[in-house]
Amino acid sequence: MQGRMMQHPLLISSMIEHAARYHGDTAIISKNTDGTITQTDWTHITENSKRFANALQSLGLVQGDRIATIAWNNHRHLESWYAISGSGLICHTINPRLFPEQLVFIINDAQDRVVLFDKTFLPLIRAVKAHTPTVEHFVYLGAFDQDVADAVPDVKFYDALIAEHSAQYQWPALDENTASSLCYTSGTTGNPKGALYSHRSTVLHTYAICLPDSLNLSANDIMLPVVPMFHVNAWGTPYAAAMVGCTFVLPGPGLDGASLVQMIDDYKVSIALGVPTIWQGLLAAAKQTGSPLNSLKRNVVGGSACPPAMMKAFRDVYDCETIHAWGMTEMSPLGTGNQLKAKHQQLSAEEQFKVRLSQGRPPFGVDLRITDEENGTNEVCRDGHSTGNLQVRGHWIIESYYGKSDHALTTDGWFDTGDIASINEDGYLLLSDRAKDLIKSGGEWISSVELENIAMNHPEIAMAAVIAADHPKWDERPVVIAIKQQGSTITEQDLLDYYADKIAKWQIPDKVVFVESIPLTGTGKMLKRDLREQYGKILLTE
Ligand code: AMP
Repeated sequence: MQGRMMQHPLLISSMIEHAARYHGDTAIISKNTDGTITQTDWTHITENSKRFANALQSLGLVQGDRIATIAWNNHRHLESWYAISGSGLICHTINPRLFPEQLVFIINDAQDRVVLFDKTFLPLIRAVKAHTPTVEHFVYLGAFDQDVADAVPDVKFYDALIAEHSAQYQWPALDENTASSLCYTSGTTGNPKGALYSHRSTVLHTYAICLPDSLNLSANDIMLPVVPMFHVNAWGTPYAAAMVGCTFVLPGPGLDGASLVQMIDDYKVSIALGVPTIWQGLLAAAKQTGSPLNSLKRNVVGGSACPPAMMKAFRDVYDCETIHAWGMTEMSPLGTGNQLKAKHQQLSAEEQFKVRLSQGRPPFGVDLRITDEENGTNEVCRDGHSTGNLQVRGHWIIESYYGKSDHALTTDGWFDTGDIASINEDGYLLLSDRAKDLIKSGGEWISSVELENIAMNHPEIAMAAVIAADHPKWDERPVVIAIKQQGSTITEQDLLDYYADKIAKWQIPDKVVFVESIPLTGTGKMLKRDLREQYGKILLTE
């Protein structure tokens, strides 16, 4: 016997309709690329998304076509997202920090028919335009601009398209499994691969990230996604903001600490999300300006491990609860978020802090396991000690990459993340490392993340990356590449001594190299591959 409930497909358009109907006057604040601020609301975002859906139809696009965006977090980008996915097209967000060759590869692989872009990326558009034959239209996300018109012949202007088209648009009743958006992995090795999300996977992921044990979002929140919309859809926040009807503060290109402090203070941001390098900048700027970040109740740290010293600073100095989360492009991205259970309430503040340092537990909809080999099926014990290959399955996890016929799963249907981790009895995940970043010393594994966390806990270290350097006797040994805090006189020996009472002697790094800057990936993670190329042989030459 079948259930007798309505069959409503899970569609992205229904989230924006909900926001317009029930939270129409809730503010959307957007920093434009020229630094000006636009204040709008869910009613106008929805109207403009319908106007742009009509504009896209007038360009002759058909369901399933890919529309690329190369843009900051701003209101036009948000409107275009709902227009694209809502009307049955596929929203392909592109990371502008990739090399032009990677960008060309991605646009051609996706066969994008339209590219939307912000002014910052005009030089990039000029560089790739001649090499992307499938692109029929370039749309500038703004009003008429002579520089843009001169640089890109036949370019269309978003504001003009919006003005020309009606706000009357009937969202199509798509099958919920229709593809909605496309995001390429950062591709630190080999060519990037596309994760193609569906309306159903997106809506289910959105429900999950709003839950109290995830981001704990509600219509009371004022949310600032510092994480870019091109980094796994800003971790799903543009959908979550519409689902709960919260105020959304879009920082545009202003991702430096000082701009973020100002955004948080000016608009009373209650929750903000970003990678650790962003928070490092914010903490330094808050210290400099003396802002107590009064409104900020929660911040979400993901993308790389949250250094304990950072979590402590947010807790002790800013009375802000840090939610450590883990995920990946292939997972939409949320895999786990860290919140305590009732049983942890009896623990001391320091014991609770220890629990909160891990990457946390999965929401319903994601299942985790640790196996004893890559792509293996043999699960190891959930005891908090046994580490192995982290695998996942669930409603918003890929089955196969875009354009690839073979599926990306183990023989029994799990996706191997490439991360090394353990899971404890309470279901908390603790990541040790990326499999490729682990250091193999004399047959024993050393976690680069653990060594980085110790270094970054030192008050005179601003940032640290630990890499495996080749060693004639031990195969590989850890080397620390570190940036000193401004004005610090710390020496190599000081930092090595700092490790002495914190880890086993054989895990203490062999060397410290102080540098002025550490290269970052397009999504703000430390680019260890480059560091390994530069310093990987340093122990052989000494
Ligand atoms: P991406 O798909 O570019 O977002 O990268 C996903 C990868 O980032 C994961 O497989 C992890 O290796 C890493 N990652 C994400 N979140 C965390 C976290 N909280 N702690 C440690 N590593 C993380």
